[in-house]
Amino acid sequence: MKELLSKIIVGKDPVVESRIAHTRILLTGQVAMVGIFISLFYITRNLILQLNVSYHYHAILLSVMILVVVLNRKGHHLAAKILFLTTANFIIFLFSSAASYYTGSFIYFIPIFLAAFVLFGYEERTKAIFFFLLTLLLFILAHLTDLYIVPQVTLSTRKMFESFIVNFFTASFLTMLLINFLIRENYYYTKELIQNEEQLLEKNMQLIKINQELDQFVYSTSHDLRSPLSTILGLLQVMELEKEKGNTGYYIELIRNRVHALDHVIGEILDYAWNQKTGIQQDAINLHALLTEILTNFLQDEKTQKISIQIEVQPTLEIISDRRRLKIILLNLLSNAIRYHQYDQSNPFIRVSSTIHQNQLEICVEDNGPGIHPDHQEKIFEMFYRASDKTTGSGLGLYIVKEATEKIGGTIHLRSDYGKGSSFMIRLPMLQ
Ligand code: ADP
Repeated sequence: MKELLSKIIVGKDPVVESRIAHTRILLTGQVAMVGIFISLFYITRNLILQLNVSYHYHAILLSVMILVVVLNRKGHHLAAKILFLTTANFIIFLFSSAASYYTGSFIYFIPIFLAAFVLFGYEERTKAIFFFLLTLLLFILAHLTDLYIVPQVTLSTRKMFESFIVNFFTASFLTMLLINFLIRENYYYTKELIQNEEQLLEKNMQLIKINQELDQFVYSTSHDLRSPLSTILGLLQVMELEKEKGNTGYYIELIRNRVHALDHVIGEILDYAWNQKTGIQQDAINLHALLTEILTNFLQDEKTQKISIQIEVQPTLEIISDRRRLKIILLNLLSNAIRYHQYDQSNPFIRVSSTIHQNQLEICVEDNGPGIHPDHQEKIFEMFYRASDKTTGSGLGLYIVKEATEKIGGTIHLRSDYGKGSSFMIRLPMLQ
């Protein structure tokens, strides 16, 4: 019903610059329609009562109000408003100056006062003030002088009462339409304002977080990048001093390890930056194949071969997610599980399993390695947090894992029994 009315008044695809302008156009159409209703009511009533009065004024009102609707619909919004207010003002003046107070026709002055301000709004307030003054002048002429144009009609008390009821209710309806517009606009503006404020607050919090991270980032990365470089420089010096001893191979191996560590840190920084900047992709992924691809590189290492790696994922399981992010997540978790494992313990294992639960994909990366001390468990996902002094990593890995997981709409939780092992549980929404 509301949509149909809107289509009749505004047309199918109106080009309107703002929501408030659209509502104003709708309102102009609605008040013109009330004008059509009023004129039709009086024409019919006068015909039934066979009163020989003012048909042409009602006919003028009817035609002008139809014209207002047409102009409004055709996009001549200003012309429609001016035509509506001018005609409505003069018709109200004509009838309220001719009719008895008891018909209540003067009540229309109230909505017409309001209409000037509501239809033009603050942006066009000079036009609104002009019409307000016009209404004021016509009210004074109609009720404080003896001026009248339409011949005065004498109605029975009953007919006067009927007119009063119709005038009272239609004028009240018009007033309600206009006030409702003001209240609604106020409501929407307040809501928008609150929403903007909330967004601003959220942006502010994000900025504070980013700023803190940036401070820490600059400090930690410069340290992490410099430390392998200083070690390499030191090793080169020793190599030079011990040239003759013939153990260059040993130092080259040490340097290679440091270069790898450096490369790892740079790789993590790149992953971090990429995750922050890049939008989410939706790829069809075979989870089993992805895990095999990740593990192939690790399995070339002799130490890794000592660990039993079990993949408990259905080979046919296909999911829709961001492939590169999921790879970063699993690669980091598996790399940690391998790096921190105790190779000399009995039955060292790493198990990756997946289940679908309440339309969520749960991936669990579990190991029976050293576990993480309860003191560290809460902070493990923080940027540059290392849970032990022995670690050679940068402390960025799990932070990137958490950021990437959240970016694809998931969550990550750690469960660890210190001395017995750790398990990382990722929950991802199942996209169709
Ligand atoms: P790093 O680059 O130091 O590995 P991470 O953010 O990946 O940084 O991990 C943070 C810390 O959590 C590590 O320093 C390590 O002490 C601990 N950790 C991570 N995964 C495991 C695991 N599977 N078993 C034991 N400790 C772990």
